[in-house]
Formats: sequence, C-alpha cells, structure tokens
Amino acid sequence: MEAKAARAPEKLQAVRGMNDVLPDEAALWERFEDAARRVFALYGYRNLRVPIVEPTPLFVRAIGEVTDVVEKEMYTFEDKLSGESLTLRPEATAGIVRAAIEHSLCYERPQRVWLAGAMFRHERPQKGRYRQFHQFDAEALGFPGPDVDAEQMVMLARLWRDLGLADSIRLHVNSIGDAGERRAHRAALVAHFERHGSALDDDSRRRLHTNPLRILDSKNEAMREVIESAPKLLDRLGTESRAHFDGLQALLAEAGLAFEVNPRLVRGLDYYNRTVFEFVTDRLGAQGTVAGGGRYDGLFEQLGGKPTPACGFGMGIERMILLLRESGAGCAGAPLAYLVHAGTAAAPLARRVAEMLRDAGIGVVLNAGGGSFKSQMKKADASGARFALVVGDDEAASGTVGVKALREAGEQVALPAVELAPWLAAQTRPND
Ligand code: ATP
Ligand code: MG
Repeated sequence: MEAKAARAPEKLQAVRGMNDVLPDEAALWERFEDAARRVFALYGYRNLRVPIVEPTPLFVRAIGEVTDVVEKEMYTFEDKLSGESLTLRPEATAGIVRAAIEHSLCYERPQRVWLAGAMFRHERPQKGRYRQFHQFDAEALGFPGPDVDAEQMVMLARLWRDLGLADSIRLHVNSIGDAGERRAHRAALVAHFERHGSALDDDSRRRLHTNPLRILDSKNEAMREVIESAPKLLDRLGTESRAHFDGLQALLAEAGLAFEVNPRLVRGLDYYNRTVFEFVTDRLGAQGTVAGGGRYDGLFEQLGGKPTPACGFGMGIERMILLLRESGAGCAGAPLAYLVHAGTAAAPLARRVAEMLRDAGIGVVLNAGGGSFKSQMKKADASGARFALVVGDDEAASGTVGVKALREAGEQVALPAVELAPWLAAQTRPND
C-alpha cells in the first residue's frame, strides 16, 4: 500500500458493496425479521449465534477449495497480534456446524436451529448482490430426512404466504446424490465438457479436472447451452438416493407445495449432497434466488465431528426486502402518538403522560427541544403518528390531554389523563 501523505482528508464513506440501512428502510427489515422469527419458532427452530470471524481453514474445508467463494470472494486477513489467518464468514453453515461439534450440541438429540446476521463476500456489487449482506439461516442437525428437508420448504412457503409473496416465488428442487454417485458421474461430465472445450470460459476450463460439478453452477450466459446438454446426475442416482428424492417429492406433494425438479441445480458450495433446493423469483432480474439450501450429510465428519446428517438453507434478507418493495410494501415504523407540550406547568404532566402510555405498551414520541405549538404540530405530522396529544397549561390545570387525529378528519377532543391509555389502546390497528 502506498502512503497518501499531505493530501486533503478523503471523504469518509461506507466500504463499496456494504450498505447502511436507514430507519424508513429498517422498519421493513424489522417487519420481515419479525415474520421470519415467528414462522421459525412455529416449527421449533431455536436461535443460535456464532462469531462473524472464524479461522480461515474452517471455510476452506467446509465450502471447498475450488469454489467461487473460497477462490475469490473471502475477506481473509492475518490477525497481526496472533499471526492467525481469519475470515469474515461468507455463509453460516460452516460456523454452525463448527459450534455444534465444539459443544456436542447433537449429543443427546437432533437440533433445529436458526441464525440471522451479516455475511461477507467480495463479489461485484449490483442490485441484490452486495459485499456485506444479511441472511436468515436455518439448520436441522442430526436428521437423515427427507422429512425435515420437506419441512424446511413448507416452512419457507408459510413465510412467503405471511408476507404476501406466495405468488412471486417458485420452488426448484434437485438431488445431487452421494459422493460415490458424483464420482461415478464425473467421468461422463468431464467427457461432455471436453467435447465442448471451446465453449468453456477460463474458470470452467480450470475446474474441468478439479471440480467439474462446479461448472454447472456457472452464471455465464454464454455457457448455458453446454450446461443444458450435460449428462444429468439425477439419471444416475443409486437406490437410496433415489428413494430419498422420491420421498421428498411425495412429502411436498402431500403438503400441496408446487415445485419444479431442476436437474441443473447444483448450488455453489461443495458440502451439499442429495437434496438441494432454491426458491426463485422473476422479479429481481439476475439475482433471482431468494433462498437456497440442501442436505450436507458429510460436513460434520469433514470438520472433525461424528457422522451427523443435516439439512439447511440460507435466505438473503436484502433480496427479500427488494421483493417486498417491488410488491408495494411500505412500513415507516411510525409511533401511534406524538405528544406536544408547551408551558412550564405542562412539561411535567407531558412527561408523566408519556410514561403512563409506555407502561400500557403504547408508543409515543415526546417532543424534545421546545418550540411553539405550531412547529411542534408540524413535527407531529412529519413523524407519521396517527394522533397528536396536546398538553398546554390549560390541560395541566384540569389534568386533561387534548387528542387530535392527524390522518383523519375530526375535532380535537379532551380526555382525562388517566383515560388516555385505554382510549388509545382501543384505536390501535394490527399494523400500528
Ligand atoms: P447466487 O447464486 O445468487 O450467487 P448463492 O448460491 O451464492 O447465490 P447462497 O450461498 O446459497 O447463495 O446463499 C443463500 C442466499 O443468500 C442466496 O439465495 C441469496 O438470497 C443470498 N445471497 C448470496 N450472496 C449474496 C450477495 N452477495 N448479496 C446479497 N445476497 C446474497
Ligand atoms: Mg453466489
């Protein structure tokens, strides 16, 4: 790095591809997060939290050396104080499995867990693709499936319904078999791509002999045809993998969940086997996958644990928020009431009233910093609150509070301070 001496200080800005979420937007995030947490709890998933930073070898071993994520997208750095190589987590599963092994989480019984938080990948920033992004992630640890595999898809479908998005999201499923089946398929795959060597891009040519399955996950449009015509692993599944996949499809059908079998679906991380799935939308352009996951029965052993079958998925929050916006969702997170007050006798009553309302669970913004009634009423209006509450010296003398509806017509009414909380509570609507 070159030193930049004697220059005017540069304007400080967020790192490229890493975004601020301002309050208006964050209100929609909260709405989404509340819905996801509620739905996950309905299925018995419990929250688990792991560090954002992990030793680099964890991700290299879990995700696979010859993958986009490990080859070119990881934020890896040396901890100068210890000399250790650390990485900002690019995905959640590796850390969760590391934690499950470290704490023998599945020793007595299998576990359903979820995690929400920031992930980091050095990708080219564009709509729906960022360098810091956020996921909701759910993992069923210690279950051979296909029951929990289907349950996760049913759970996500419930979330789409709750959010009013069911019509814009479709489910793709596939089975990529077991390691042995993939090895047997590999020769046919390599032969196909060698026959069409000139159609391959540099990455794919390099991966032809190290990780040919990865070629199927390429997003390069120019390679679409050669990928479409490749032999399908789905046609070569062994008896057990076939039965697992048939079982999954029967469960999805029983649940009334529409799905498409997509034999090209492989996913970008190496740890998957058997079930893989993605929920996709046409409404976000190229970044159409809103959630993706699958089974990873070998990962625990690969990371030094006991054999533990497992299945999980990650869901990109930014893409969900974009989709909610596309669907016209708005949510400003406004308080129910804004309390304006002027006068020395009014201020203590105003503070007392505000705390009384909060005792009753009613959100109220208490005007701060003074100002005339008129300017305070302007702030009340701009806050998005449905009601302005007014306390002047007259009200202070009579122990009443003026209530004025800001979003509907109506005269200001006066209520005794003690009646205010029940009166407002009766006015709340589901979205307040
Ligand atoms: P894509 O194919 O779009 O690159 P992926 O297969 O790399 O996605 P996963 O590793 O399965 O994604 O992560 C699960 C979800 O996280 C994705 O379906 C997507 O919603 C979200 N996601 C992944 N990478 C990004 C990113 N760089 N920015 C925003 N969201 C992302
Ligand atoms: Mg990706």
